[in-house]
Amino acid sequence: MLKIFNTLTKKKEKFQFSYSEKINIYVCGVTVYDLCHIGHARTFIVFDIIKRYLEYLGYKTCYVRNITDIDDKIIYAANKKNESTDVFVERMIQLMHQDFLCLNLKNPDHEPRVTKCIQDIISFIESLFNNKLAYIDDNKDILFSIKKYNSYGMLSRRIKQCCLNKNKSHSVSQFNQSDDFVLWKHRINKSDPHWISPWGPGRPGWHIECSAIINKFFKNGVNIHGGGIDLLFPHHENELAQLKSIKSSFSIKFWIHVGMVIINNHKMSKSLFNTVLVRDLLKKYDPEVIRFYVLSTHYRHPLIFIEKNLNASKNILNKIYISLLRFNSSIINSDYKIKLRNTFKKKFFSAMNDDFNTPKACLILQNLSQYITKIKKSSDILLYNSLSKDLIFFGNILGLLNHDPKSFLSSSTNRVLVSNSNSNIVQKLVRMRDIYRQNKKWNLADIIRKKLLKLGVTVQDKHERSTYKFIYEN
Ligand SMILES: [Zn+2]
Repeated sequence: MLKIFNTLTKKKEKFQFSYSEKINIYVCGVTVYDLCHIGHARTFIVFDIIKRYLEYLGYKTCYVRNITDIDDKIIYAANKKNESTDVFVERMIQLMHQDFLCLNLKNPDHEPRVTKCIQDIISFIESLFNNKLAYIDDNKDILFSIKKYNSYGMLSRRIKQCCLNKNKSHSVSQFNQSDDFVLWKHRINKSDPHWISPWGPGRPGWHIECSAIINKFFKNGVNIHGGGIDLLFPHHENELAQLKSIKSSFSIKFWIHVGMVIINNHKMSKSLFNTVLVRDLLKKYDPEVIRFYVLSTHYRHPLIFIEKNLNASKNILNKIYISLLRFNSSIINSDYKIKLRNTFKKKFFSAMNDDFNTPKACLILQNLSQYITKIKKSSDILLYNSLSKDLIFFGNILGLLNHDPKSFLSSSTNRVLVSNSNSNIVQKLVRMRDIYRQNKKWNLADIIRKKLLKLGVTVQDKHERSTYKFIYEN
């Protein structure tokens, strides 16, 4: 049975829901003020896997991921580019979608933009007013009153920490009025984007947007709420406080948080100028390599980003694809040597059921691939193909092994250096072909070109000397 670590209870808990009910998943999306970085890629790859795995288990899911398309940072970035926020936001969303498409992320079922949910946000704030949790401050902003909500700090355990620090003095709260947060920001500059509300022109605060969107799509509660660990406090604490304040029975069963990406001992952040953009990585690495790399660290642990480790992932993935080069889907038998095959299956699914232990699951893919490589050399073709099919099936659950091995290995981002012996043969053949070309013996040159192709080598003709590239082992 699947167990998931729940940030709310700080325990691994059984994921026990009826297969007849839809699993509601809400993940805080991107604030579109800049291009997506590896931190975004990590978080959304993790939730992509979670959705895929739940669907594999037989659950139907409803996945909502919002887009924050209004924010101080967005207004600042648009002004800097001398663009209207509308034009800027459209462009950034398009670029974000390109990145996500390349990363092979499944589309969410709904991707609401905050600016399209303004009425829902206003109604939510009105409910908070009705329940006496909202007030207008001296700047005409609308704020949430933390002291009126008794369970504030429940999710991030801020109150408990405070109690421990104060020798278990339960009556003390570490929060005061200065921690109250904005629900609706009053317009200051006439030129700023704004919407009309009962409290005058303005725009929503950040935290309220997620609560209002969750309330709009998931009236009956949420099974999984996710995001990066940096959102736990105050963003998720505030989201929960708002939702519980309008409906105390509102339930978010599992809170799942993805660890940070660390670069040179620092959290990756734009202010530290150490961001690694998704599109820069995609220029050098196949999306499956990025995915494999991300999944090789457990989602709750910090991911220490070191680029050479991406190369290591690339080599591992290449080896896995190489082991599948002779796979023939017409030579399989679903029951063949099932006992042996089940040992890999059992290991793979027990890793996934243990709080999505993808590093372990990736290791099992490697082990299975190594086993298949050994079988390839024996005469048990049926076992080779049946195990290869299993390997592809497990890989697909992780969003991997979606390509034909030959095309994957020959793609520009995935050159595999051939072994020395093969390399010598290839070099000799290429040079021999050059001589035939120089002597206009086109037929012979073509025969060698085809031979090279069989070895997984393509040649590019440049005047007298050709170059070869995109090599894979055969
Ligand atoms: Zn959120």
